[in-house]
Amino acid sequence: MDNIVVVGGGAAGVAAVETLRAEGFTGSLALVCGEPELPYDRPPLSKQVLTGAWDPDRTRFREASHYAELNVRLVHGAARSLDAAGRMVELIDGYRLAYDGLIIATGVRPRRLPSGHDLAGVHVLRGLADVAALRDAFDASGATGRVVIVGAGFLGMEVAAAARGLGLHVTVVDPLTEPMIRQVGPVVGAAVAALHRGQGVVVRTGTGVTGLVGTSGVGDAAEAEDGAGRVTGVALDDGSTLPADCVLVAIGAVPETEWLAGSGLSLGNGVECDEYLRAASGVYAAGDVASWPSPRYQRRVRIEHRMNATEMGSCAAKNLLNEEAGREPVPFDPLPYFWSDQYKVKLQVHGDLSAECTPTIEEGSVEDGKFVAVFRRDGVPSAVLGWSAAARMPGYRKLLLG
Ligand SMILES: Cc1cc2nc3c(=O)[nH]c(=O)nc-3n(C[C@H](O)[C@H](O)[C@H](O)COP(=O)(O)OP(=O)(O)OC[C@H]3O[C@@H](n4cnc5c(N)ncnc54)[C@H](O)[C@@H]3O)c2cc1C
Repeated sequence: MDNIVVVGGGAAGVAAVETLRAEGFTGSLALVCGEPELPYDRPPLSKQVLTGAWDPDRTRFREASHYAELNVRLVHGAARSLDAAGRMVELIDGYRLAYDGLIIATGVRPRRLPSGHDLAGVHVLRGLADVAALRDAFDASGATGRVVIVGAGFLGMEVAAAARGLGLHVTVVDPLTEPMIRQVGPVVGAAVAALHRGQGVVVRTGTGVTGLVGTSGVGDAAEAEDGAGRVTGVALDDGSTLPADCVLVAIGAVPETEWLAGSGLSLGNGVECDEYLRAASGVYAAGDVASWPSPRYQRRVRIEHRMNATEMGSCAAKNLLNEEAGREPVPFDPLPYFWSDQYKVKLQVHGDLSAECTPTIEEGSVEDGKFVAVFRRDGVPSAVLGWSAAARMPGYRKLLLG
């Protein structure tokens, strides 16, 4: 194999190129980055960068010299199409990259509400440009600024914590009964709600959003570049409207697979790979964009978490080289892990945590603001969750390894 292209310069793509070199691949290697910046890390965006504690440059994985030393060519531009039979990637400017091996690592993009996103003051958060715009909006809304966050997943709750820390008035709205219920279940979700309420955030769970309300845009050109108007509120399913100067829509994400339409790859919930992360001959996928049949959980999964992206990028790279060398591929079978930082609390989850598992608190208590919970299914530990209990987690993690 002489020529490998990795599309997507996030955590998974960077892990893939570094692993390819570490495993001895000496051929031509290109990393296609859809954004103008050097590859950077996303978790600090909703935390240290949004609060102003970190300069955005600090999120870079590596300096340019690192890629030069690895002889990795960074190509800035978005891929438009894939010709899998002809082994060719085409970028939106028409530039073409031929490959013998391809790794797809294009991540996800924020899901949007059906309408209202063109109003000034409405934001999503995925990349550096988004966090700069959101931070400007916070600054512009001043001390009395009213921020409404649509969606109480981990992203929405992290932004709520950051905005509250900046002194803004924050309301979070979600149709589900507790914040982060899909990630931590109802019991810990209730603790997340209490944490935020204790900090002065208004948490409106069990409430749906029916639309965004804004000015008409007529005579409003200074505020809305395209004359679409400015957001003034969020309409709720109980008929009321929450006034808002700034709205963050944090209602999940969809895999970045549009550029793969017509490629012949199986695109369901992301790029559908086998357990070795292979999507087609010589084509692998990794990170948020890819799903695979998990040997551990006996079902197809797609995980949008930071550590998984690195582990997957590395595994995809190894298996691409294994395919070429005629070696046995290695199944991708990690124990999932994610964390979330809100105020001074660090939440950490190892394993598979589904809402139907009931947690037992094994150490500490919700009231103490420090605890470890073990989730069991049919009596067998399936996940462990730490709430400001980082030092205790390695021991509990072992429970999941049998
Ligand atoms: C604000 C924020 C906070 C987070 N916090 C946490 C956290 O606390 N804990 C945790 O576990 N996880 C967290 N995550 C999730 C974690 O960051 C992701 O799981 C991880 O970044 C996924 O890496 P990836 O490489 O798969 O995708 P990405 O990091 O999304 O990288 C994909 C790259 O591909 C590029 N791309 C897309 N389309 C194309 C195209 N057509 N052509 C070329 N390039 C393209 C994109 O521009 C992007 O640079 C957070 C995510 C966000 C957005």
